[in-house]
Order: sequence, then structure tokens, then C-alpha cells
Amino acid sequence: MTEPALLICINPADNVAVVGNDGGLEKGATVDGLTLRQPVPQAHKVALAPLSAGDPVRRYGAVIGYAAEAIPAGGWIHDFNIQIPPASELKGPPTAAQAPTNVEPLAGYAFQGFRNEDGSVGTRNILAITNTVQCVSGIVGHAVERIRRELLPRFPHVDDVIALDHTYGCGVAIDAPGAEIPIRTLRNIARNPNFAGSTMVVSLGCEKLQPSRLFPEAFGASAEKSDSLGAASLVTLQDETHIGFEAMISSILRTAERQLVQLDNRRRQNCPASDLVVGLQCGGSDALSGVTANPALGRAADLVVRAGGTVIFSEVTEVRDGIDQLVRRAASPGIAEELLRQMEWYDRYLSLGQTDRSANTTPGNKRGGLSNIVEKAMGSIIKSGSMPVNGVIPPGERAKGNGLLFAATPASDFICGTLQLAAGMNVHVFTTGRGTPYGLAEVPVIKVASRSELATRWHDLMDMDAGRIVSAGETIESMGRSMFDKILAVASGERTCAERLGLRNQLALFNPGPVT
Ligand code: CA
Repeated sequence: MTEPALLICINPADNVAVVGNDGGLEKGATVDGLTLRQPVPQAHKVALAPLSAGDPVRRYGAVIGYAAEAIPAGGWIHDFNIQIPPASELKGPPTAAQAPTNVEPLAGYAFQGFRNEDGSVGTRNILAITNTVQCVSGIVGHAVERIRRELLPRFPHVDDVIALDHTYGCGVAIDAPGAEIPIRTLRNIARNPNFAGSTMVVSLGCEKLQPSRLFPEAFGASAEKSDSLGAASLVTLQDETHIGFEAMISSILRTAERQLVQLDNRRRQNCPASDLVVGLQCGGSDALSGVTANPALGRAADLVVRAGGTVIFSEVTEVRDGIDQLVRRAASPGIAEELLRQMEWYDRYLSLGQTDRSANTTPGNKRGGLSNIVEKAMGSIIKSGSMPVNGVIPPGERAKGNGLLFAATPASDFICGTLQLAAGMNVHVFTTGRGTPYGLAEVPVIKVASRSELATRWHDLMDMDAGRIVSAGETIESMGRSMFDKILAVASGERTCAERLGLRNQLALFNPGPVT
């Protein structure tokens, strides 16, 4: 190895640092008078001072575990020699919320978006076809292929036609507590700003999730004709006028064509950065995620909030161990209480499955140096930046208000992304250390690598290399500023790697209710 050994310490209170070098460090490597006792992979932790059994291990200034045995200075620290601390108690703020109040506004930033009647702004112009039940999925998939081939070329201002495919709708206890989550998720995804209120609905006819239940405003007893999801946009396959397969496909194509005519009249216009709704996520994380990509994303999130926009962060099991920080950042005592309520709900949900938040970490996280969920949470929460938490979005609900919002979702990448779509995000930023090809058809996904080695190896899958903070001495501030610029460019139509390659993950609904 020719490059100098690099150990990164995040907080002066820490007694560990992580290896920054691509490929890790050999036994005997020395940094600042410290000699490594064994080979340590990149992003893994090294003890900066000798530890006795039971001593706290500190990273991000927080206790991420206790030494399970004596560990010498320069020793490798990982899940084999530390114990996870117990989950913190869920209790209210000791005093009134202490959220920062000096949020300095940032003016003069804009993007080119599609303004919708409800005031939201799309970053893409997409015709989405949703359904009330999985039974119709094969027919809709076939129809979408034909629409793309036969109709879409005639409508050059429409970006895409997609099916909002899912596995819900029948064979479920639809009145049970919990069923409301998948139902409102589907309802709100159909209202995502990128679909301009044009979403079509395909129903089978006999399913439990009737159109009137999924979209009461459009199809319920008191439906108003003016609603954008009007009766004209519903196709019911069991309708008696459908004689065979071709009749069903023709019905869908005819309805789609009417929507495409409307969508094709739309043009991008100048929109202030306050119209951004940016969903943040991390997946396939490693110990550098919390050093490079996530802190830089935190700076970008602060810029979006200061510009008046909305930032949504999520992943309950990845904030559970940092809930005290979030409660302190809540903009009001009511928001602090709602944060705690969502944590309690999720603790109960996990305990019903006889598990807890420690089930979160993956084999890849561990290979990437993350010893447990506490360490993972500290590195994950950093991407929320430093602004006050201005609201909490229950799973499947649409965001209300602006600023930094916490959407209470599982940490599962695809379930979190699905719920952030329902919350109304129009740009998604996704950081990764191990690497994931994650992408969505519904909104552009900006992929950020935490390590330069990953960004180089996956050169056509990663939009940004935050590893430069370690590999090229770039500052977290300047990387955060580049991310903010990238968010504005992508919101204006610049295509992401996942869009160019057509990488699209399926929607994955969060359904805590029983199936029958
Ligand atoms: Ca995730």
C-alpha cells in the first residue's frame, strides 16, 4: 500500500476510529503513534485507547456498545467483541422542545417542474395506472406494454406510462386494525405529484378493496364529478360489456389515451426550491455511510429546508436508538409526543413478532463494519441534518406542511420508498455503502456511494461519489452543496443512473393487518 494509513474519528469523545483506506489496513500499519494489532477492513473500527471488559465504546459521541473483553489500543472492534446497549426508554422531553429556531432562509434557488392543480409540483410527467386488487395485474401489465409501444410515441411531452402494481386488495381482513395503512398508502401513491392527478384505476369487480373504498372522493356515494379521479378513469374488468381479453385491453387503452392527451399539454415551468419534497433513505449501509454520504446528505437536507422545501426522513428501527436526539429537535412538544408514539407503536409491532430493533442489521452491514443497530442508527440519523423536526407522518399518510418531516416507516428499502411515495416525495436521494441497484419508476432516485471504490466499480449505477470526502479530501459542506445542486438538476429533468438503465423496484406495501 502506498497511500498513507487513514483513521477517521467523528467526535472528540470517541474512543474508536474507522479505517478510511480502500482495501483496509494491514497488521502493523501505524497512524498517529497507533499500531494496528491485526488487519482491519475498510470502514471497520479500531480502538484508539485500551479498553477493559465492560468499558463503553463511543462513536458519534454516543455509546454504541460495551467491550465484551479487554481490547488493546490498535485492536479491531466489531460485533464479536462488543455488546449492544439496551434500547433507551421512550419518555417525553425533560423540558419544552429545544429545537433550533435560527433557521436562516436561503433564497434564489429554483427548478423546472410540472405544477399541479393541488399546488404540488411534479418532477416527471407520468401516466400511472393503479389497481384495486392484484388479480388484474397481468391484464394491466399487458396494457401498459401496448400503451408504451402504440400510444406513447404520439405524446412526446409525457415521460412514461407505469403500472402501480401491488399485492393487496383481496384475501385480507379489510376492516381489521392495520388494514388502513396499505389502503391509504395506495390512495396517496395515486396522488403523487408526478402523476398530475391523472391516475387511472383498474378494478376486477368482486374484490374486497372496492374503488369506492380506495378512492371515496372519486367513486364513493358522495363523489363529486369534479374530482380528478373521475368515473371516466375507472375500468372494471368484470363489466358485462367486456367480451374477452381484447375488449378489456381496448377499454384500458381508450381511457389511457384520454389521460395522455391531457398530460401531453403540460410543460415544465420555473418553480421555487420550496416546491421540492425530497425523500431520504440509506440502504446497504456500511460504517463509512455515517462518515461521508449521510453527513453530506444532512447538509443538503438543511439547504432544502432553508430554501423552504420539504425533506422526509424515515426508517423507525434506524432512529429508535437516537430518539432522544430527535425528541430534542422536535419543533413542538406535540411533535415530540408523536415521535415517541410512533416508536412505541413500532416496538409493540416488533414484539408481536417476538423480535426487536436489533433484527435490523444485515450480513452486509456487518461486513461493512457496522457492529449493531445502535451504530447503524447513529450513522443513519445524521442524514436528517440539523433542522427542527417539523412534523411526523404516520405510515401511508401524505406529508402536510414543509420543513424536515419524519415519516414513520420500516427501514426496509422498498417498503420505505413505497411509503415515501405515498407521502408525496418528488425526488428521492438514496445513499449506499455496500451498493444496491435500487430505483423507482415513480420518482427519480439519486444514488450516492459512501466509498470511492464502490463509485468506481459501479460507475454507471452511482450518481454521486461521497467517498471523495475520504479519498480526495473534499469537505462535507461542499459535497452537501453538490447534492443540493444535483437535487435541483434532477428535479428539472436530468436523468439519474437508475432512470437511464430502467432500474425499477416493485412497490412493497406495509401491511401490518392479517390476511385471510
Ligand atoms: Ca433503508
